[in-house]
Amino acid sequence: MLDSLLIKPLMNYVYPKAVRASGIYIYDENGKEYLDGSSGAVTASIGHAVPEIIKSAYEQSQKLSFVYRSQFTTDPAEALAKRLSALVNAEQDYWSFFVNSGSEATETAMKIAIQYWQEQGKHKKMKILSRRISYHGITLGALSMSGHLGRRERFVELLEDYPTVAPPYCYRCPFQSSVPKCGIACADDLETAIKRIGAEHIAAFIAEPIVGAAGGVIVPPDGYYQKIKQICEQNDILFIADEVMTGIGRTGKMFAIDYWDVKPDIMTLGKGMSAGYSPIAATMASEAVISPILTGSKVVMSGHTFSANPQSTAVGLAVIDYIEKNDLVNASFNKGKYLMEKLKGLANSHSIIGDIRGKGLMIGIEFVENQQNKKSYPSSLNLTNKIVNIAQNNGLLLYPSSAGTDGKGGDAVIIAPPLTIKKKQIRKLVELLDKTLLDIKNS
Ligand code: PMP
Repeated sequence: MLDSLLIKPLMNYVYPKAVRASGIYIYDENGKEYLDGSSGAVTASIGHAVPEIIKSAYEQSQKLSFVYRSQFTTDPAEALAKRLSALVNAEQDYWSFFVNSGSEATETAMKIAIQYWQEQGKHKKMKILSRRISYHGITLGALSMSGHLGRRERFVELLEDYPTVAPPYCYRCPFQSSVPKCGIACADDLETAIKRIGAEHIAAFIAEPIVGAAGGVIVPPDGYYQKIKQICEQNDILFIADEVMTGIGRTGKMFAIDYWDVKPDIMTLGKGMSAGYSPIAATMASEAVISPILTGSKVVMSGHTFSANPQSTAVGLAVIDYIEKNDLVNASFNKGKYLMEKLKGLANSHSIIGDIRGKGLMIGIEFVENQQNKKSYPSSLNLTNKIVNIAQNNGLLLYPSSAGTDGKGGDAVIIAPPLTIKKKQIRKLVELLDKTLLDIKNS
């Protein structure tokens, strides 16, 4: 009773009520239209109310809606695992462990990495290294691996004290240098950390190939992941690529790590994997990583009741079919270029725009007080929230992000519309953003 009294008025007060959606538009109870410029939380990657996906969920539910993963396997779960492995396109197979959210996927990745070493008698390898300015999920394990001060600070005492390394943040280089003269010092920082901590204590290094919510889309320089992978291999440390936000076509490649031509040992997927039609995420591990587990304890020590359920896995398959049939990975690449060009045009008339960066249809805009010295606005101003709220009022949905050096302060938004967006709709998105930034200036 008390709960519903507390939650209901608050929710009604804060948000408009969405009642339906179609394509790249969402409509509230008053009929107001919102252009989904961020695919929700970078999730609704093929747009809303796509009949093929709804049909797949309906048909699968009619046949078989739920079985428990420790009692049965199913056609859609097997087919999805096979399909994902083929998409990685590596010399070895990748095994999928299905879960329900990105946080569960990264948490499972952490457990598989630790278990991999345990099966080989290396029980001290328990630490997972990550980067400052990163986000891998909200559960305590995932948060322990996240360099996102804003999300961590209330729970710090509950978290593992995992070390972090320098971010590949060229706009604000942690070494006050630039590519190529830096020699990609941010990748070398991983080696420095390994030497300090001792490789015998480290199970894995986790990174978002392109940083999302913690940094307003940070794209590492060419050569960065090749170096990271080499450092990991030389030190017997697994490399986990967190593709929860970037995977399944979002950045103009099927997986963002493909830009660096590197195969991770473990990879996580979420968000765009079901494009929002059903909760599903995955932890994929290479055959080499799974082998010692299969010959050892034979079971991955993770799992949730709804893991690998037939309805969600059928949706996952249908989404990949849809993306391939409509060539949406290439669409993301090409339309991303178009959107980037248009956004760069906006930077001339809005001095608040410090940097625009990204790949495909995942673009971040970082806002600054001063373009020359790149000074951020004080966090007390709450600029990101103001921009996001005014944009929503204007009928444009953006995804808020931090930027700056600690994953807390700094202002940025992520623009990541459905990959199905048309050029005319891109121009509309940019117009609405232009209006929003003018409103901010005049506020
Ligand atoms: N990893 C990354 C890179 C993410 O962006 C997110 C969510 N923003 C997560 C993990 C956690 O996913 P979820 O919110 O589905 O738990």
